Parts: sequence; C-alpha cells; structure tokens
Amino acid sequence: MEALRDRLPKHQMPTTRTYTIRHIDREAEQIWVDFVTHGDEGLAGPWAERAQPGDPISFFGPGSGYSPRPDADWHLLVSDEAALQAIARSVESMSLDASGLVLVEVRSEEERQQIDAPAGVEVRWLYRGADFTPETTVLADEIRRTELPPGDVQAFVHGERAQMKEIRRHLVKERGLSRKELSISAYWAYGRKEQDFQAEKKTPAGQIDDD
Ligand SMILES: Cc1cc2nc3c(=O)[nH]c(=O)nc-3n(C[C@H](O)[C@H](O)[C@H](O)COP(=O)(O)OP(=O)(O)OC[C@H]3O[C@@H](n4cnc5c(N)ncnc54)[C@H](O)[C@@H]3O)c2cc1C
Repeated sequence: MEALRDRLPKHQMPTTRTYTIRHIDREAEQIWVDFVTHGDEGLAGPWAERAQPGDPISFFGPGSGYSPRPDADWHLLVSDEAALQAIARSVESMSLDASGLVLVEVRSEEERQQIDAPAGVEVRWLYRGADFTPETTVLADEIRRTELPPGDVQAFVHGERAQMKEIRRHLVKERGLSRKELSISAYWAYGRKEQDFQAEKKTPAGQIDDD
C-alpha cells in the first residue's frame, strides 16, 4: 500500500477492509481470519462467501493498541460478530487469575465459538435470532440490565456504530466508567460501506465520543 500510495492518485488506490488476526499457525504457515458474511452487499463479506483455496489476497498491517491490563480488578468486553475475534484474542491473552464479563451478540447459537477464558471470566452469548438491524440487536439492553461489579474496570467494547454510541453514553454517564479505561469504537456501521463510515468518523456526527 505504501508503494502504491507513492505511485497512484488517491482515487485509484485499492479499496481496503479491516480484519482481525485470530490466530497464526507458524508450522502450517497459516493466518486465521474470520469474516462475517452479511449478504450480497459490500466487498469483503461477499468475497469471503465465495472464496476458494488458492484465491489471492493482499494485506498490510497489523495495527492494534489494546491489551488487557493485568492489574485491573475486572474486565468488561462487549462485541457483536465483527469484533468477536478481537474479543476472543483479548480474553485468551488474559492472566489465569483475571476476572471479568464478556458479552457477545451473534445471530444464533450456531454462531457460537470456542473462547478459552480464564475461570473468573464469564462468557455470555446473546442471540438476536435474526440478521442485525437496529431493532433486532439486544446488546445495549443486556448491558443496561447487567449488574457490574465495583472496582477498577478496564473495558473493551466494539461493534456497530450506533450501538457503540449508545453503550458508550450508558457506561460513562450512567455507570460512571472512566473514559480512559474504555476502549470503544465502531467496527462497522449499519447501512454504510466501510470507506464511507471511516470518512464520517472524521466528522462530529460520525464520532462515538460525541460529548
Ligand atoms: C479494527 C477492526 C477489526 C475488524 N475485524 C473484523 C473481523 O475480524 N471480522 C469481521 O467480519 N469484521 C471485522 N471488522 C469489521 C469489518 O471491517 C466491517 O464489517 C466491514 O464493513 C466489512 O466490509 P464489507 O466489504 O463486507 O462491507 P461494506 O462494503 O463495508 O458494507 C456493505 C454493507 O454491509 C453492511 N455490513 C458491513 N459489515 C457488516 C456486519 N459485520 N454485519 C452486518 N452487516 C454488515 C454495511 O452496513 C453495509 O450496508 C473489523 C473492523 C475493524 C475497524
């Protein structure tokens, strides 16, 4: 991408999508990436649905900043399918004596995946029972009715943009979570292509942190 950036005008640059490395198997020389498929719209989802062994793919990166803090009293991790791999990696990198709560919303029980969490970390699966829409999602309601333990919490919350805005407001304003201990971002936006919503993130209306 860097080499292309030097050569091509902006409008000719390839369109990119952002994904999480779930696992690297050095012996098998594999990088595991899990794509949510969501119908015919978009580039990456439909590509993954049709992908065959041997299909080429180019990538650059990685870029990441978050890692669970070993001295936090407890951890709160919240996601939908798009951030499930990021959540799983984070939980699996925690120390064995870590405490926490993981809330993951997926379509149905079939979408449930193995997450090797420390004994003190509860992994709670939430089932929408339908494709994601602002009406079918249950994540924000579940957080509202969940009792959160007191103490020094580190939170990692990622998913659909409007949900992230709502959850952020609730956690900061109603639960008093410290902004600096809250890693929250939109991984995708309902009804918008990635390049559009990433551009909107640079405007006030597109920001999670709107207050
Ligand atoms: C740091 C980071 C890591 C990410 N890791 C992953 C990952 O490991 N796996 C993963 O699947 N996604 C991941 N995502 C989200 C992914 O980048 C977006 O979902 C992206 O929009 C998918 O591109 P697309 O070409 O399929 O759809 P786009 O062209 O971006 O969008 C087309 C349409 O599909 C809808 N759409 C996009 N994503 C979803 C979705 N998840 N569910 C339902 N509808 C959707 C859009 O609202 C739009 O209407 C990550 C995002 C970020 C920022």
